Amino acid sequence: MSIQYPIDLHIHSTISDGLETPAELYARARREGITAIALCDHDTVAGVPLMQEVIRQEEALTPDSPPIRYLPSIELSTGDGGHAHLLGFGVNYQDEKLLSALEEMQEERAQRSRRMICLLKKQGIRFCTHVEEELTRPGTGRAHIARALLDMGAVNTMQQAFDRYLARGKCAYIARRYMSIADGVSLLTGAGATVVLAHPCRLNPDPQGLRALVMELMDAGLSGLEAYHPSASRQQAPLIDSMARSLGLLVTGGSDYHGDTNCCVRMGRMPSGWQDPESDLQALLERING
Ligand SMILES: [Zn+2]
Ligand SMILES: [Zn+2]
Repeated sequence: MSIQYPIDLHIHSTISDGLETPAELYARARREGITAIALCDHDTVAGVPLMQEVIRQEEALTPDSPPIRYLPSIELSTGDGGHAHLLGFGVNYQDEKLLSALEEMQEERAQRSRRMICLLKKQGIRFCTHVEEELTRPGTGRAHIARALLDMGAVNTMQQAFDRYLARGKCAYIARRYMSIADGVSLLTGAGATVVLAHPCRLNPDPQGLRALVMELMDAGLSGLEAYHPSASRQQAPLIDSMARSLGLLVTGGSDYHGDTNCCVRMGRMPSGWQDPESDLQALLERING
């Protein structure tokens, strides 16, 4: 069972593969009674100053409403196949080493999109020129291509786009190179971030294997686990929660909201069982500011 929380520490905007702009996300948070958000766009911090500006303007317009607390953040893809996602909360979006690593990733990603589009052409699928241009801009990825395939009617669902063309081993799949998880943790901590392993159940559903990995990453500077995420079952979420606490790690939660109105993910919606999100948020903020 999932429930609505007033805190959402994992949302995406149009700056990566979300469908809503930072301003639209802020407005949604207001409407839905969310009091704290973290914009965690994939492999980019370009949304951080945009969201800061949105908040500055909104607060000037509505000085009497309590401000929504905002954590500048990023979701970094690392590890084999890029499947290990790290949330870097409180990241310094001007850190030069981080920016150059991200730029390299974005360029590699655009090159990969170009190669995948060529492979789709061999399957008889051609995007119109302006869509192709959009899809080969730095920062685009498989989710963008899947959505374009859906929009042109080549598939009926995003999942079908992956199952037929884009998943590993399928005809239009190109592998990417990623930094190791430990290198990702170091890169983010170097940029002043407090690093949390995103949706750990997706990475390794076996609790013992996960615990071993987490302990290894703690040596690299990992600070917490995202226990409450839609990918965790009602049983798994409390297990991750207690694993984190037993290791002295922070606990976070986020919906991974991407703006898709045709799926069940909603801002603030996560598995039930998170006892005290506010005090866990305070602990995170103390770590970020400490
Ligand atoms: Zn993720
Ligand atoms: Zn995400």
